Amino acid sequence: MCWRCFSNSNISHPEAPLEALPGASSRRGFLNHWGAGLGLAALVHADAQAQVDVGQSSSMRKLIPAESLEQSARQQYRQTLSEANSKGALAPDDYPQLKRLRAIANRLIPFTSQWNPDARKWKWEVNLIGSKQLNAWCMPGGKIAFYTGILDQLQLNDDEVAMIMGHEMAHALREHARERLAKSKATSMGLSVASQLLGLGQLGDVAANVGTQLLALKYSRDDETEADLVGLEIAARGGFKPEASVQLWKKMLGATGGGKGQPSFLSTHPSGNNRIQELEANLPKVAHLYEQARQYPAGTQLN
Ligand SMILES: [Zn+2]
Repeated sequence: MCWRCFSNSNISHPEAPLEALPGASSRRGFLNHWGAGLGLAALVHADAQAQVDVGQSSSMRKLIPAESLEQSARQQYRQTLSEANSKGALAPDDYPQLKRLRAIANRLIPFTSQWNPDARKWKWEVNLIGSKQLNAWCMPGGKIAFYTGILDQLQLNDDEVAMIMGHEMAHALREHARERLAKSKATSMGLSVASQLLGLGQLGDVAANVGTQLLALKYSRDDETEADLVGLEIAARGGFKPEASVQLWKKMLGATGGGKGQPSFLSTHPSGNNRIQELEANLPKVAHLYEQARQYPAGTQLN
């Protein structure tokens, strides 16, 4: 869904083949449902008010029922994992990089419902797919995937991974996919998607069709900025260094050649420098959240 956030045609491709992961054949379960109880013990001790200013979510998104969209996302997520699994490219639960991703998610999830109360009911999942793609996404309902390409090519530290994960979570929390689909109702594709989600289309593969389109969805520049800032705040509350957001995008720009020769990338994103400036301007707003999180990690009991 969010490959455009990070993709670059020089070093990755959305259809890049899946790559077998060493040890992936030992995977026993298909999905790891570990959302239940996750982070419930976390104590939200920091300033409960949102610190970054991104305004209200678009009310237009309500034209698309959230439940139907999340059902389609779940189906597409399972299909994506199943395909990866059949190629030995789905990381098993004990795969070190996957354990690392899930540990980072555990620190972010307690701070997500502030941005969308429905997220309390989501069954968050995080999986790792073997692929050279510089890619990561979070589907509606909290279904996250990282590709090994983005971890390996950018040599991301935990703070930088948290910034990407927060960014992707923010797209789901702010329901950008739902909003995009609602706004595209005027187009034939949008109409068919909307009619499917509203139960007017054919039964059967309807959910799968919508899911496929979820993966190709293009976000707006405003969506990207919003995801950057909301993700920054969630990561800071989780105890991840806010400055890593700037480092991350510098790395990303380095990997994508500074935007030169990247018209498709630039057409769908705020330019790298603007993005970095926007993040830098917001660092002071979240600095105290990071300091508090470092002082009192989630789960700490205060009296
Ligand atoms: Zn994005």
